Amino acid sequence: MQRPIKAYIDLPALTHNLLITRHYAPNAKIMAIIKANAYGHGLLHTAHALRNADGFGLLELEAAICLREAGFRHPILLLEGFFSTRELALLEKYRLSTVIHHDEQLAMLTGCNHRELDIFLKINTGMNRLGFASERFPSIIKQLSGNPAVSQITLMTHFATADGTTDNTQFHKQLQVFDQITGLTAMPCTLANSAATIRYPEAHRDWVRPGLMLYGASPFAAHRGEDFKLKPVMSLTSKIIAIQHLKQGDIVGYGGNFQTDRPMRIGIVACGYADGYPRHAPTGTPVLVNDLRSRLIGKVSMDMLAVDLTELPNISINSTVTLWGNGLPVEDIARAADTISYELLCALPTRVELEIS
Ligand code: PLP
Repeated sequence: MQRPIKAYIDLPALTHNLLITRHYAPNAKIMAIIKANAYGHGLLHTAHALRNADGFGLLELEAAICLREAGFRHPILLLEGFFSTRELALLEKYRLSTVIHHDEQLAMLTGCNHRELDIFLKINTGMNRLGFASERFPSIIKQLSGNPAVSQITLMTHFATADGTTDNTQFHKQLQVFDQITGLTAMPCTLANSAATIRYPEAHRDWVRPGLMLYGASPFAAHRGEDFKLKPVMSLTSKIIAIQHLKQGDIVGYGGNFQTDRPMRIGIVACGYADGYPRHAPTGTPVLVNDLRSRLIGKVSMDMLAVDLTELPNISINSTVTLWGNGLPVEDIARAADTISYELLCALPTRVELEIS
């Protein structure tokens, strides 16, 4: 028998979230970020639900090729670019756009005999992850503009703190660096992730690059997606597969760190950390059992976790448990487990079947 855990993917919610994104950035093109298997939601059906986006951004060359082969004609941007001349040749073959962020890529471009490459030149404005130092911008632009292989250049940077809650100094510093060095060019630009798309209209420019908000979650720790009218796309659900009746003083699960202070009834759910549920979620983390609120108790094990059914007498084996999603924001689980919703969504392992609706 198949394990009952499933991740339901609500495709209309994806389409809805794209519309909300358009509402936030009405004058920009939207490059939907679908890296990491569309943040765990599954590549092709996600791309299909987001087909009204103006382009797609991802890291994985095979996935980009898969999109092309499935018939998507949108601009498809490789966010880390290419790693070899063989990959550079594939960019031309599949008409993929590429980020350029370091000298080895520039060197591979120089003297290559490809045509019509669509380049996104990444500038490091202060995040210090990817990108050319801003002082080098004039010379690199000169070099790229003179390269017959390059047909289009878009200028790009990425913000380190657009999701920060109080201090926006770093954001403004990065924006200022970007504007200072690129101010005299008429080239298209892309700067904004979800947080900047929602919070900083001045960063919208030609393309926004939302990821998380398309999946219905908030990029801001103090908010949930619903605060921005976003709908959750993934609901992770499973079932109660055993029920235990405990006496006062009994323990639950590995380590025995949870001990009952009264007689309790607990449900064992077919979902553990090998299913992507965070192992560090503490006792008290919310769950829904047949849409009723309950709580996790004891340590999460590899394949199972325990929930409190003491106050839910009508719950029985096979009752449905929602671990996150509809009715239980993934942000709440992330907060309880001291992580971020990005990590929970992306960490969904292949053994959890996606059920598309
Ligand atoms: N742009 C780049 C370069 C990224 O690396 C990412 C994700 O990390 C995004 C856009 C989308 O970010 P978010 O999911 O916060 O919208």
